[in-house]
Amino acid sequence: MTKKKQATGEEQLALLELSMDEIVDKIEELSGENVFDCYQCGMCSAGCPMADEMDLLPNQVLHALQVKDPEVMSANSMWICASCYTCQVRCPKGVDLAKVMEAMRQIYLRKQLDNVPLDDLSHREIRHLPQIAVVASFRKKTG
Ligand code: SF4
Ligand code: SF4
Repeated sequence: MTKKKQATGEEQLALLELSMDEIVDKIEELSGENVFDCYQCGMCSAGCPMADEMDLLPNQVLHALQVKDPEVMSANSMWICASCYTCQVRCPKGVDLAKVMEAMRQIYLRKQLDNVPLDDLSHREIRHLPQIAVVASFRKKTG
């Protein structure tokens, strides 16, 4: 798949027309989770099967949200998360990180912004990439 230059966190905020304060509020509203419950023990990241592929580890995503770092919105972590709930099971504070990741994706999807816009794929890529991989790169759970 064509690798395009990743937008910075500030560019993502401009695209979403939201401040980091608004994004954190929205994530808490959509997920029902308090990102400030996390005390950075790292248990979630230690058990995450997708951690090696993430720009920010699961606990780093929560830390970035706590300090309102815009780069969290440009990291690929929310799109890589497989919603396997391993982190939630391991978390001593009961933080449901899968729901937090889903809320982050929802913020994009509600603005009609996908991880991989269809127009960015060449005809060759659409023809030859496994269909399931192409679909998985677009919208995750939208219901
Ligand atoms: S739900 Fe996502 S962040 Fe949590 S362990 Fe699974 S892949 Fe990692
Ligand atoms: S396991 Fe829970 S408390 Fe520990 S870093 Fe992860 S989310 Fe935070």
